[in-house]
Amino acid sequence: MRKKIVAGNWKMNTTVAEGVELAKAIVAKVNEVPAGVTLIVAPPFTHLTSVAEVLKDSAVMLSAQNCADQPKGAYTGEVAASMLKGIGCAYTILGHSERREYYGENSEKLEKKMALALESGLRVIYCVGEKLNEREEGKHFDVVSEQISSVLFGLTRAEIKRIVVAYEPVWAIGTGVTATAEQAQEMHAFIRQTISAHFGEETGEAMSILYGGSCKPSNAQELFACPDIDGGLIGGASLKADDFIAIAKS
Ligand code: PEP
Repeated sequence: MRKKIVAGNWKMNTTVAEGVELAKAIVAKVNEVPAGVTLIVAPPFTHLTSVAEVLKDSAVMLSAQNCADQPKGAYTGEVAASMLKGIGCAYTILGHSERREYYGENSEKLEKKMALALESGLRVIYCVGEKLNEREEGKHFDVVSEQISSVLFGLTRAEIKRIVVAYEPVWAIGTGVTATAEQAQEMHAFIRQTISAHFGEETGEAMSILYGGSCKPSNAQELFACPDIDGGLIGGASLKADDFIAIAKS
């Protein structure tokens, strides 16, 4: 059975105090979520220690949103994967489209980040997804295939087991436009096939693949009912505990 996961990407939102309250509200409702669904929250770096304290006796796991592409040293403003592991992160997100688009994160950089995250003992939620023009030009499978092969195909069989892929069509992120269940399922099945073709069917079948992009309580059920969709990476709707929990109950 693949792990079902609902992860909240808080992005650059909330003060530390607000983030602590949000985490407390999620923890207070976590027992409403069916057994077998893993909840993860990814607050900003500044919040991680305080949120870790709130989560410590709960089943909710902590993730960072990014990590550095260097292990340590003179890299002003960066945060190393080992530091994140050291304060209680179990996961980090890597390759989010906002990092690719606004901070120039390409495959080369992401490969370095991936290696360091895994070496530090973190699991990784690796984001892939095409832009609107790429879908319109019929290039969406090629784009996602390249994002996967360039960063994941160098991993060992043991390492790939610690990766969760999040398919996030860029045109659906924060726009209110959600991929249809058919579009999402089609791409998730393609991602699973791509992983299976390289790492073997057992690995592909075992990988959790999350959908992200304007997922909310009103559309989560239809998306999560698809056979290759194992949960969601949630942006805007993860900032309200009730919505986040409602999605996880879907
Ligand atoms: C995201 O950026 O990971 C995301 C899914 O955002 P939203 O749910 O707000 O579209």
